[in-house]
Amino acid sequence: MFDLAVGVVVGEALGAVVTALVNDLLTPLIAALVVLPINALIARARRDPAPADPTTKKCSECLSEIRIAARRYAYCTSAVAPAAVAS
Ligand SMILES: [Zn+2]
Repeated sequence: MFDLAVGVVVGEALGAVVTALVNDLLTPLIAALVVLPINALIARARRDPAPADPTTKKCSECLSEIRIAARRYAYCTSAVAPAAVAS
């Protein structure tokens, strides 16, 4: 009878230890293995802007966007460099 009581107490203590281990070690480990890479991906996606719209290009002088076929920039009216038209 005494042995059974000890066993129950030990079993409960072991259960508490296992629960504590899961809470203290496994959960952060899962967070590290699953959540952190996802967060890193999201952060990288936010850091890298979407590729520029291929139908427009940006003026190096006034930073305005014009259509890729335009011959002059809208705001500073500087001529479009011929190299920028190629594509
Ligand atoms: Zn310009």
